[in-house]
Amino acid sequence: MYADVIVDISHEAVDRIFQYRIPAELLSDISIGSPVCFPFGKGNRLTKGYVVSVSETTDYPVEKIKNIISIDEGALNIESKLIELASWMHKRYGSTMIQALKTVLPIKKEIRHKENKYIVLKCDEAAAKEALDIAIKKKHKAKERLLTELISAGELSYELVCGKLGISSSTIKALEDAGIITLKQDIIYRNPSALERKTEYSIKKLTFEQQNIVDDIFGTYTNRTDLRPKLIHGVTGSGKTEVYMEIVAKMQSIGRQSIILIPEIALTYQTIMRFYSRFGDRVSILHSRMSAGEKYDQFERAKSGQIDIIIGPRSALFTPFPNLGLIVIDEEHEGTYKSETMPRYHAREVAKKLTDMSNGILVLGSATPAVESFYKAKTGEYCLYTMSRRVNNNELPAVNIVNLKAELEKGNRTMFSEQLRCAIEERLKKKEQVMLFINRRGYAGFVSCRSCGEPIKCPHCDVSLTYHNNGHLICHYCNYNIKMPNTCPKCSSKYIGTFGTGTQKIEEAVNKIFPSARTVRMDMDTTSGKDGHDKILSTFANQEADILIGTQMIVKGHDFPNVTLVGIMVADMSLFENDYKSSERTFQLLTQAAGRAGRGAIPGEVIIQTYNPEHYAIEAASKHDFYAFYEKELSYRQLLNYPPFYHILVIFISSPNATECGTMIDMASDYICKTGEYEVIGPSDAIISKKRDHYRKTLFVKHDNISALTDLMESLDIYLKSQNNYDDVLVQYDLDPMNTY
Ligand code: ADP
Ligand code: ZN
Ligand code: ZN
Repeated sequence: MYADVIVDISHEAVDRIFQYRIPAELLSDISIGSPVCFPFGKGNRLTKGYVVSVSETTDYPVEKIKNIISIDEGALNIESKLIELASWMHKRYGSTMIQALKTVLPIKKEIRHKENKYIVLKCDEAAAKEALDIAIKKKHKAKERLLTELISAGELSYELVCGKLGISSSTIKALEDAGIITLKQDIIYRNPSALERKTEYSIKKLTFEQQNIVDDIFGTYTNRTDLRPKLIHGVTGSGKTEVYMEIVAKMQSIGRQSIILIPEIALTYQTIMRFYSRFGDRVSILHSRMSAGEKYDQFERAKSGQIDIIIGPRSALFTPFPNLGLIVIDEEHEGTYKSETMPRYHAREVAKKLTDMSNGILVLGSATPAVESFYKAKTGEYCLYTMSRRVNNNELPAVNIVNLKAELEKGNRTMFSEQLRCAIEERLKKKEQVMLFINRRGYAGFVSCRSCGEPIKCPHCDVSLTYHNNGHLICHYCNYNIKMPNTCPKCSSKYIGTFGTGTQKIEEAVNKIFPSARTVRMDMDTTSGKDGHDKILSTFANQEADILIGTQMIVKGHDFPNVTLVGIMVADMSLFENDYKSSERTFQLLTQAAGRAGRGAIPGEVIIQTYNPEHYAIEAASKHDFYAFYEKELSYRQLLNYPPFYHILVIFISSPNATECGTMIDMASDYICKTGEYEVIGPSDAIISKKRDHYRKTLFVKHDNISALTDLMESLDIYLKSQNNYDDVLVQYDLDPMNTY
């Protein structure tokens, strides 16, 4: 047997894989992830590394392969575990082992530690005072200053000594040589929080319901009677976060660490502050705006036991805690838990695997659980807890549906129904706040021609260009940018203009109808700056604006007690996105948006404008009725062989060469159809059939057994590689996709 090993556990070095022979006596001890010692390089220096795969064959001349010498007993268990996890991800999601390793292992490059140097007394105080007397006598002013300060403070930062005290390095050196002072260094891991404990945390007395859940989850965990994942289905404001924090504290008390995943968008000051104020510097955060070095520091702090808790987006899963006890996934239905690059893993599944490997427990929470998760809870694979009331007993807001078709028939051509306009007017009068929400993921505001009907498209991508207020048209996929033309590029008609209702358009309309209202807008354009996001939110939170307009970014995790009206401009926008999850996503977005109203003392109101008032997702959302939605949705899923009944594998092929792209997808399709085992849909063009000059095609494969699909990925990949020699065709896999193709 042979083993592939990597020498250096760092993101950058995982491409460098070396092959060794596993001697017979070690065969039973070596598996993927094993830390091993082996002779390395010309000098056969004894080197340590990790096994990343095991095989029966080798591509090298057998006589040249060296033997692994031993298992490295001193190695950290956590690295082995991460490599084992990578191997699982590689198989499950059809990525290469290297892609998987790069996902789980930290990036080590370019870390320059900020080092803090200190000056401390090396001798006892009497000797220091003696030295001070000598310095005074000899009129060594600098020495005198430094020693006086040091005797009273005990230690001083080097920076302060050289800076404020104005003491030269030669003076310091002289005292150091005389054995009076010494320099101490310690690595200060860059702590991203910069959040000091502003408010003292008072531990809340849990409600009866909360306490029961905590006791049950922790109790069944410690006595190992129920290790199933837990799903907490609780309306927003029902106190889920308090429950998580209590379990985290209990884990901390038995020496185990916790990972808390929250959607990136909800990584706001408010949420993080609650954890910081309770757990202080035992908690750290990860977020996408941190540099690789900063992230690496957090991982080091976790590994060395300086923190017990990490909060972050899905990549926080790979925090190398030595004794992981708990993973919490809040808002577990969120699309951001699915990776958009290979391996396209789902955090929920990886977390399950990781807690199994670490003897830990997985807790999922949501007000609108994913249909798949709720199904698992109903069928006993997960353990279900329900929290049906808000802690403060505030009622959920009243929701009114407005039929936009009827508005049009009445002759109202604006984007505000009579009802929404009146409601906004009323809030403005009462100095209450309003949120206007547009539930679409992409951009609106494309330019098209009224004469030939063609939208103006990007020449490199199969998408419409988006109009920006600076008079430019921009492609959001490749940043192609032109000045807005005066005439249609196709037919030269001068009747071209912007259509659709983007956030900008809504803002313009609001400013026209309510000229005195102060508006802020939150979308990809306004939040791209480093703190753009936080700034807009704090403006609104401080009531320096009356109306907040935005995409789904505005509906998550923020608490604005003065918001008493939420308007959803066109609820249908997310309803007809071309995938099986569009109804579910619509229901979740509407429910979440509705949950933003009436968080404070005054009851809230929600107005949903829609062209499809009778659609079950919209109707159920208006009644805050998750169960009604779930039952209906589940029956559709069953009827159409969709998850959770079936699993879907997307095979996605792209190439700058249209013919090669087509040949390859046909080859894949033929291969799969020949097996006769799978339901195959396609091949067809991807929804965006061309992006950055690459053609894109897809094939959908369905089966009710997930391992039938993971096996297929493996054999298909080998087959495709053996059949062609195109270098520029990229094959990707996506198991149970969360986005459209
Ligand atoms: P969720 O995470 O379900 O949205 P939270 O945990 O954020 O709910 O709780 C909603 C609000 O109620 C928060 O302001 C929280 O501080 C408060 N809260 C939660 N549990 C309690 C409790 N047991 N006693 C008092 N206040 C609580
Ligand atoms: Zn035209
Ligand atoms: Zn483009």
